Amino acid sequence: MVQKKSKSQVIRLAQPLIDECDNQAISDVIQSGYLVQGKKVAELEMKIADYVGTKHAVALNSCTSALHVSLLSLGCGPGDIVIVPAYSWISTANVVCLCNAKPVFTDISPDTFNMDIHHLAKILQQLSQNSSTAKNIKAIIPVHAFGQMAHMSEIIALSEEYNVPVIEDAACALGATYENRQAGSIGEIGCFSFHPRKTITTGEGGVVATNNPVIAQQVKMLRNHGINPESANQDFVLPGYNYRMTDIQGALGVSQMDKLHTLLEIKKQKAAIYDDLIANTQLSHQGVYPGSSHAYQAYIALLPENKKNKQAHFLKSMNEKGIQTTIGTIHIPMTSYYRTTYGYSTGDFPVTDNVASRAITLPLHDKLTEKDQIKVVTTLVELCDLKSV
Ligand SMILES: *Cc1c(COP(=O)(O)O)cnc(C)c1O
Repeated sequence: MVQKKSKSQVIRLAQPLIDECDNQAISDVIQSGYLVQGKKVAELEMKIADYVGTKHAVALNSCTSALHVSLLSLGCGPGDIVIVPAYSWISTANVVCLCNAKPVFTDISPDTFNMDIHHLAKILQQLSQNSSTAKNIKAIIPVHAFGQMAHMSEIIALSEEYNVPVIEDAACALGATYENRQAGSIGEIGCFSFHPRKTITTGEGGVVATNNPVIAQQVKMLRNHGINPESANQDFVLPGYNYRMTDIQGALGVSQMDKLHTLLEIKKQKAAIYDDLIANTQLSHQGVYPGSSHAYQAYIALLPENKKNKQAHFLKSMNEKGIQTTIGTIHIPMTSYYRTTYGYSTGDFPVTDNVASRAITLPLHDKLTEKDQIKVVTTLVELCDLKSV
């Protein structure tokens, strides 16, 4: 009989850590028969607010929903402008369009892959000098790329200078810190994701963290059909969505929170091993901003400049060798919708062009062994050395 290569031999890109406590937590909710947003969601919200250090945390069915209602809670609507980085998961820009507003993109820094501060300053200056756009700048959404926090002091300084609120897209950054402050606690609003590729998971899920009680209240109404949570009778005060998290997910989130610290430590250790393996090769990797602690939602290696046209080929070859890898994230202005709607072309965001063509996400999860990590890096280095590619 021919032995098929078993699934376990494949080095997986990502894998959530689900244990017996998680199973029990989910099972208890299912047995109880109370499945929709209830006590377990409320418990998760308290845990998140406590951990992040904000007065309020409001759970939703995804981080995309969290970002969407955050913009709505700031009154974002037709004609408004929101500044977002060019390199992120597509939601960061899509939610702006879902409010019928316009995303304006910044390029990124070549080392941290976060919003380029100089570009942000230039855009804010240009938009505020023009009387037709000055009043419409509704928000800045810095993204903490792959768990590495954006340059928050500079971003907050600009947000104060131009009086524009900041929504942190902290989807990948639960547990990341910047000058000892938690991701999601620095801007007016912070949004987190519990998708299975993020550090802890509820299957799908997200949360809005804020110190602002008016925003928290608005988000609670928007997630639940516009029902005013303060009113004794069921009163619908605005047209809302159904963006609620289930109690099954809430229970999983509570149980996952117990593993957050361990998971962050494991990822940091494994990232340090990759750093060592990559040193003195042709590869490089995402830099860590001084004074910040990276949450390593993902570990991003960069191919050498002369191999940047080979990214797709490298991903395919790695996969054939039993190693799952993927691109970094999305060059949003170069996707069909944004390119054709706003007429972007190559060269408009040169650093994003470069990073997006060179980034490769390496496997990172608790089951990954040091032997696996050596295999990942040596395989990638061997591919770079091949003259034919
Ligand atoms: C994952 C992610 C999102 C979306 O999160 P979902 O919970 O999947 O909706 C938004 N922004 C960034 C930067 C992400 O990585």
